[in-house]
Amino acid sequence: MRKLIIEARVNEFMMRGEGNPNVPYTPAEIAADALACREAGAAILHFHARQPDGKPDHAAETYAETVRLVRGSSDILVHPTLGYATLDDTAERRLDHILRMADDPAAAPHFAPMDMGSVNVDRYNAQARRFDTTNLIYKNSTETLTYFADRIRGAGMKPYLVSWNIGFTRYMGAFLDMGLLDEPAFLCFCLTDNTFLGGHPGTLKGLQAHLDFLPPGRNVEWTVVNFGGNLFSLAGAIIAQGGHISIGLGDYTYSELGQPSNADLVRRIAQMARELGREVATPEEARAILGMEATSKSKAGAKA
Ligand code: ZN
Repeated sequence: MRKLIIEARVNEFMMRGEGNPNVPYTPAEIAADALACREAGAAILHFHARQPDGKPDHAAETYAETVRLVRGSSDILVHPTLGYATLDDTAERRLDHILRMADDPAAAPHFAPMDMGSVNVDRYNAQARRFDTTNLIYKNSTETLTYFADRIRGAGMKPYLVSWNIGFTRYMGAFLDMGLLDEPAFLCFCLTDNTFLGGHPGTLKGLQAHLDFLPPGRNVEWTVVNFGGNLFSLAGAIIAQGGHISIGLGDYTYSELGQPSNADLVRRIAQMARELGREVATPEEARAILGMEATSKSKAGAKA
């Protein structure tokens, strides 16, 4: 079986006060965490730029500074989030910082995310039996996704496709059929175990429903996130079925494990994989599994 790609999802918008003080905020903290995760077995870093107090930082320069520090200290592949000040921003504004970074070899990301559909992202508070907000929609219109696919490919990056439910995966199939995405596609199943109800539950059934609807005959490498829940209960099944793992304090504090660091989580997954007979991919090996040599070459060719 091909090697396991581990992605470290180090911070998202998780606050240290939510249960684990090891969430990195600043560019230097993120770069140090990236290096530790790389040494523990991660091939990909996913991060959100944050201010020193943990608030979101949407400045393009903060993103670029973070990627420069990460790439300067390690060969881990970089996957920054889209930039936005509000969920209503235009496609151009959401991708702008990534395209600007792609023009600077020292700050160039390897991936840019595309969530293949739209979904409500109000947090549900099950104890209080109410939603914390009532009007948050993560909007990704067909026009926006077409723009993202074109620009991400043009900048020589790999689209990091995200599926919250089967409809998103069907959209990926349509984009493959239209020739807007290249194979192998890299698809992340975003299970949402608590707080968000727009994804499948973080259970074997939730995962299996995703797998049942992968487009037949297509070359898709898939990874799994459990946003709001502990991924370890599914990790053995994912590893055994040939999937990849995306894990980190950005999704869940793992405080039941005694406040682990991101690198601790990665190390634990790498250990599980080896025990199950699956080796862990280096960043270079991950690039080969995901067909990224071709992407980089086409960019170099286009620029030459
Ligand atoms: Zn993210």
